[in-house]
Amino acid sequence: MSIAILPARLANQIAAGEVVERPASVIKELIENSLDAGATNIHIEVVKGGIKKIRISDNGSGIVKDELTLALSRHATSKIKDLNDLEAINSLGFRGEALASISSVARLTLTSKPKEQVNAWQANAEGRDMAVTVKPAAHPDGTSIEVLDLFFNTPARRKFLRTEKTEFHHIDEVVRRIALARFDVGFTLTHNGKTVRQYRIASTKAQQAKRVAMVCGQKFIENAIEVECQHDDMTFSGWLAKPSFSRSQNDLCYSYVNGRMMRDKLINHAIRQAYSDLLPHDAYPAFVLFLTLNHKDVDVNVHPAKHEVRFHQSRYVHDFIYSVCHQGLQNELSLTDDDSAC
Ligand code: ADP
Ligand code: MG
Repeated sequence: MSIAILPARLANQIAAGEVVERPASVIKELIENSLDAGATNIHIEVVKGGIKKIRISDNGSGIVKDELTLALSRHATSKIKDLNDLEAINSLGFRGEALASISSVARLTLTSKPKEQVNAWQANAEGRDMAVTVKPAAHPDGTSIEVLDLFFNTPARRKFLRTEKTEFHHIDEVVRRIALARFDVGFTLTHNGKTVRQYRIASTKAQQAKRVAMVCGQKFIENAIEVECQHDDMTFSGWLAKPSFSRSQNDLCYSYVNGRMMRDKLINHAIRQAYSDLLPHDAYPAFVLFLTLNHKDVDVNVHPAKHEVRFHQSRYVHDFIYSVCHQGLQNELSLTDDDSAC
């Protein structure tokens, strides 16, 4: 075969393999876009586990008519422009791949109205070359993205989808994780027309604790120790469950770096180490913890799905997390000892 540039849709479908694994990953990308657009309310509508339909509506900054087509192209982003930006990313997205990838494996409609634009416009990407058509539409300030029939044109990927119930479970988990990261944003999740989750904007500490209870259970918050510590540019805060509230699996382990949900080995290791003498070896701790540090001190460009980060001073970050958790747990234990001494 001779060498040829791949058609746009095929190139996007290949890239989609990395970020669009299932409906939940589409929803993660779309909610992150809404958050990056400064939305304070996000509605997530799902039909049949997200396989039939996903619709995310936000009240964010919107996309101007002339950029709708661009938003659907690969490597098109408003979030970074040069290497300096790449080295200090302060948005959730930056790769400019999600919309192009999703629209290559589903029927995607993007409708948007920035505040300063009088009318809303709608874009559709179709065909082998992903030619985009733009037409007028009705929409309040903000953006809606509708994704129908995920993987309709990639049967091999569609085969890997599980039941509607399992796919919805993954979606729910993504929404829970993001809801914990952003107390300042309201989220509604509906499935097959029914409202399944409603997280209202939580401004006060009490409202935040209530949201944590909605996601992690009332028992968790009742058994949680609140921690907060700042050192240089780093802040570490959140809720740690007392050792008596341990879990048989790692289902209540929520950690965030600069508002991004993580499955980071270093963070998990530091936390587990703080619990090491306090939990049986087959038990897992429960926690909701937030690390914030200078964007320059962390590299999020490690993996397309952005679940992992690389810290420039990993030992330092590890020891900081360990010591905050260790101290929080020790304080709690000494309080309990004092109680029993009384
Ligand atoms: P990335 O998020 O990496 O920039 P995406 O493909 O997810 O790439 O989105 C492309 C661009 O489309 C974004 O950079 C942003 O300018 C715009 N965009 C996408 N979703 C929204 C939204 N909900 N509100 C406003 N702008 C959006
Ligand atoms: Mg994005």
